[in-house]
Amino acid sequence: MNVLFSEKLIRKRVTEIADQISSDYKDREVLIIGVLNGSFIFCADIVRNLVNMKFKMDFISLSSYSGMRSTKKIEVVSKFKENVSGRDVLILDDIIETGMTLDFITKEVISKKPKSVRTCVLIDKRCMRKKDVSIEYVCLEMAANMGDDFVVGYGLDYNGCFRGLPYICKLKEFVR
Ligand code: 5GP
Ligand code: MG
Repeated sequence: MNVLFSEKLIRKRVTEIADQISSDYKDREVLIIGVLNGSFIFCADIVRNLVNMKFKMDFISLSSYSGMRSTKKIEVVSKFKENVSGRDVLILDDIIETGMTLDFITKEVISKKPKSVRTCVLIDKRCMRKKDVSIEYVCLEMAANMGDDFVVGYGLDYNGCFRGLPYICKLKEFVR
């Protein structure tokens, strides 16, 4: 089994990013918006490592993938409910590829006049980027030499499966 990001590495990077978030938002109250479904484990692990800051949690549920293919159309399955106006907002997503998804959510949040918006992703597949979106916190980077394969595990799925894997690997390790 060729593991791309081990459980140990994920834990280390999640803790480091949570520390950085805690220090950047020290003594402030942040509205964290998790992008479901893929980021549910990442969100749970990040927020349990936040210290010296207050936060409230909300979620937006989107669908833009069917199997391994992007439908190129972002469907809002359910919207966040908190009032965003005047608040510091931090968006947490599982993986950024073209940037379409994060661009969409960021614009949605900005239209509601927050005080600030930052984004945090578990994985950055930078070689696939089409939209210029700024990401303040990146846990893991899929370097060019790792390829641009579809990955699963730690919340990331293929047709709803593989979310419970404690590590992240390429789908082709399972499906040939
Ligand atoms: P983007 O809009 O940046 O092109 O794609 C981001 C979304 O596509 C992610 O939030 C995720 O839901 C899905 N996605 C992109 N690449 C992968 C991948 O390798 N594995 C999985 N499971 N989902 C992916
Ligand atoms: Mg996603």
